[in-house]
Amino acid sequence: MAKYILALDQGTTSSRSILFTHAGRIKSSAQREFEQIFPAPGHVEHDPEAIWRTQLATARKAIKDAKARAVDIAAIGITNQRETTVLWDRETGEPVSNAIVWQSRITADLCDRIKRDGHEKTFRRKTGLVVDAYFSGTKIRHLLDTIPGLRKRANRGEILFGTIDTFLLWRLTGGKVHATDYSNASRTLIYNIRKLDWDDELLKILKIPRAMLPKVRDSSGIFGETDPKLFGRAIPIAGIAGDQQAATFGQACFRPGMIKNTYGTGCFLLMNTGSKPVASKNGLLTTIGWGMGGKITYCLEGSVFIAGAAVQWLRDGLGIIRSAPAIEKLAATVEDSGGVYIVPAFVGLGAPHWDADARGTIVGITRGTTAGHLARATLESMAFQTRDLAEAMQADAGVKLGRLKVDGGAAVNDGLMQFQSDILGVAVDRPVVNETTALGAAYLAGLAVGFWKSTRDVTANWALERTFKPAMKPKQRKASYADWQRAVGRSRNWIQR
Ligand code: ADP
Repeated sequence: MAKYILALDQGTTSSRSILFTHAGRIKSSAQREFEQIFPAPGHVEHDPEAIWRTQLATARKAIKDAKARAVDIAAIGITNQRETTVLWDRETGEPVSNAIVWQSRITADLCDRIKRDGHEKTFRRKTGLVVDAYFSGTKIRHLLDTIPGLRKRANRGEILFGTIDTFLLWRLTGGKVHATDYSNASRTLIYNIRKLDWDDELLKILKIPRAMLPKVRDSSGIFGETDPKLFGRAIPIAGIAGDQQAATFGQACFRPGMIKNTYGTGCFLLMNTGSKPVASKNGLLTTIGWGMGGKITYCLEGSVFIAGAAVQWLRDGLGIIRSAPAIEKLAATVEDSGGVYIVPAFVGLGAPHWDADARGTIVGITRGTTAGHLARATLESMAFQTRDLAEAMQADAGVKLGRLKVDGGAAVNDGLMQFQSDILGVAVDRPVVNETTALGAAYLAGLAVGFWKSTRDVTANWALERTFKPAMKPKQRKASYADWQRAVGRSRNWIQR
């Protein structure tokens, strides 16, 4: 009997592989960071080969560390940084360029043009998204527009598009399977989330040939099997979901109204809205959570581009901490942020503002401001941005937030979680397994091969590690949040294009 499910979690800053047990606990894990490429201000790229190399290496290491072999693994689940776009040659499997990362603003002008041409409503209605450089569609078009001869080759079916899941699936199956799942497809700006098909009208506007697009399948189901050369024998790949949807699944948010927030590179608040897509009036996205057994679950999503990435900026840009976790000690050197607010609009603002021209702003600096205050304000910016999303979600769904399930790299920070509870005024629940993204992918795969029987097993495995309860006075909560909103106002419409 196979004992484990292997989850491949291909994130924005690192590739991770985790072996999960039947109880949904971590048996072993391996992680490798890879290079972030910034060719110009606001542009972000990854080398697809670095992604593949680090993903494969961590998978092998996780298996080895568990003293396991391929036979011990019932299935593989893939979860991935979403929207990031790779094009490659169908024959050789070689990428035609670096991947354009979800954060990249390289297509901001193109998005403006599409909006000026009056297409925004069409995109919003069909895809549930907004016309923003964030999503894959304009990134595909940009590559087809700028790489000589590429569109011709794509028209002939020689070039394939994939988000990272699709690229990994292609490599893992030795070039046999070109597919994605509903959740990833729903982030491309060319997929009709109501009709469940690539949309010819949108493809025409973006001049993207259908021939380059992957097949879209259930998130839980067998996609193919690994090339036996990779792990010694073939392993079924049985689950795929974008990282935020996988985390929502891993947090067992199976009933409509259930919400989770992930604090990683960015911050992502998702609410299960059941079998019907809910259109947002407050700057959120409508997206597919997952497809399972032929049934689609939809979500409302608030996406914030920079959260933990601001901590990395303190480390790499300012050099005031040596590692991300070191922010906890630095932030503890002060009682509060001393009236300093940092709006980390480093690549513009995502939900609910969608302002590509906003830029990072620090306000409230005085002569008494220290590195500690900056650290504190950086952490608080994650909580404030989450409150912005929560406000929008409550307005859209017409429900009051009861409590919040959290996860992600920065959710290990107790000070941040306490402040989050304070600023929302609701309890924050952190699970024992913080790696809910990888766990969600594992569950999707394990359910497809019978390793787990039903989502009831997932709910039963979910265990609470700690609850943070609001301790801030309502008056102070109100005043701080009002100051934050003023600070956001200062960051908006900054660059002039
Ligand atoms: P991703 O999957 O997007 O790569 P992770 O979930 O691995 O992100 O989270 C990594 C992020 O968490 C990084 O941006 C890092 O700066 C931040 N981070 C890690 N540890 C802490 C901490 N103790 N306090 C605050 N932020 C942290």
